Amino acid sequence: MKTYLIAANWKQNGTKKSLSRLTKGIIKSAKNKKITNSIILLPPSIYIDNISTLLKQKTLQNKKISLGAQNISPYIDGAFTGEISTNMLKDYNCKYVLIGHSERRHIFLEKNKEIAAKVKLAIDSKLSVIFCVGETIAERNKKETKRIIAQQLKIGLSSAVNLIKKNTAKLVVAYEPVWAIGTGRTAKPKDIQDVHIFIQKTLSIILGNKSKLIKILYGGSVNEVNASLILKLDNVDGALVGGASLNTKKFIEICSSI
Ligand code: PEP
Repeated sequence: MKTYLIAANWKQNGTKKSLSRLTKGIIKSAKNKKITNSIILLPPSIYIDNISTLLKQKTLQNKKISLGAQNISPYIDGAFTGEISTNMLKDYNCKYVLIGHSERRHIFLEKNKEIAAKVKLAIDSKLSVIFCVGETIAERNKKETKRIIAQQLKIGLSSAVNLIKKNTAKLVVAYEPVWAIGTGRTAKPKDIQDVHIFIQKTLSIILGNKSKLIKILYGGSVNEVNASLILKLDNVDGALVGGASLNTKKFIEICSSI
């Protein structure tokens, strides 16, 4: 049976209290509903310590819920005020890091080269990367979706090709059309499939045959109503969920929708 990967990106939302409650609710419901899919929680970095403790206390042997970070520094360590290193994340049992999210690309103006440095550093540090790609509405209207995604993949993964070839589990790709994030709009099923097939082909050019094992998630206004349709599509291996992951009931419905 296929195991889907459902990642919860909490962005800059919540408080220690509300995110603890959310985490406890997810752990409890995941156990009760016997969810067989894998869940990744991506809290704001200041709460990673707390969420890590809750997961350790509550899940014991349950490996179904992993922890990740929404961002990392592109540098190992040193005089980089405000940044968080991969080693710091590993102190708190983080297994994943989100890199290339559209909010990092478009609000914080991260370029493909900086993103490539982060991907290499993360995998060097034995973290797995959830690597986000996706086109803006202007790029989509100009029919540039595939060109943009190919460029994001080629440059973004360029420094880590050999590392990923050695261990494909270190990479998960998330297709997130920028215009679908937080807007309530989702890409049409046919477009999701087309782009996922294109991503798979591009990965096989960059990484060779083993790239077939790399999971490709869809993200962009996934919710408890549309999740089942999206997750059932060929070539969709899971979802990256923003808004709906801040609600225990909705998130658990997404996780158990397939
Ligand atoms: C995201 O932040 O990656 C995302 C997909 O957000 P939302 O589900 O709110 O569109």
